[in-house]
Amino acid sequence: MLEINQLAVQYGDITAVRNVTLDVYPGEVVTLLGSNGAGKSTVLRAICRLVYPSGGDITFNGQSLLTYETRKLVGLGIALVPENRRIFPALTVTQNLEMGAYGRSRSYIREGIEETYELFPSLKRYARKLAVGLSGGEQQMLAIGRALMSRPRLLLLDEPSLGLAPMLVDQVFEKLGQVNLSGTTILLIEQNARMALMLANRAYVMESGIVTSHGTSEELLADEQIKNAYLGMQ
Ligand code: ATP
Repeated sequence: MLEINQLAVQYGDITAVRNVTLDVYPGEVVTLLGSNGAGKSTVLRAICRLVYPSGGDITFNGQSLLTYETRKLVGLGIALVPENRRIFPALTVTQNLEMGAYGRSRSYIREGIEETYELFPSLKRYARKLAVGLSGGEQQMLAIGRALMSRPRLLLLDEPSLGLAPMLVDQVFEKLGQVNLSGTTILLIEQNARMALMLANRAYVMESGIVTSHGTSEELLADEQIKNAYLGMQ
């Protein structure tokens, strides 16, 4: 579904990502792990055309994404849940969801909102409240719900656990499992390696801009080096 081939990205003189090759097959959850500054977000930014690669290619169902503008990706079936959620604080919860299906028909939006409230019953209680009043966990659910409003085939998430208490992280990951079971493929960027590996089928690990290992989640969970570097403290 998503193929990244020998991706390289520079910020001026800094090479943030080099020679990254990564595949995501339909129906999978794939996670991209690594510590701060490893280059994970840069890979996501390149997929979303928020940075332009200095080398390599990214294709989605065989079509190169490099010719696509960011705003056109949603039409291809790709949606992003950005880092720090980026919800619209001054809009209500329902209005935030509507923004995720901007330009679509009223019935499409109405159905999407109903489905979202089925998946996130806790959000329904706050439907008419301003998003600014939601807790961090609820804001994360809202950001995921908003991305799902476009009924993506591929959902990209940048650090959904960031800043959340462990119990809320569990809840967010449980919902992501449900989203995947209902047919959405997921590429997840995470620092919380343990949670990510529990959810994902496969994982890639990045260090200093390159992929240093990859395999099934079971393989990585059993790998001594991965355990020491990423699983020890969690
Ligand atoms: P984090 O979890 O902190 O987001 P990350 O693994 O996602 O880390 P990136 O944000 O992709 O890492 O950063 C990769 C490298 O590129 C880092 O060395 C970072 O300092 C550098 N970098 C990121 N954004 C920029 C930018 N806009 N200008 C210059 N350098 C950048």
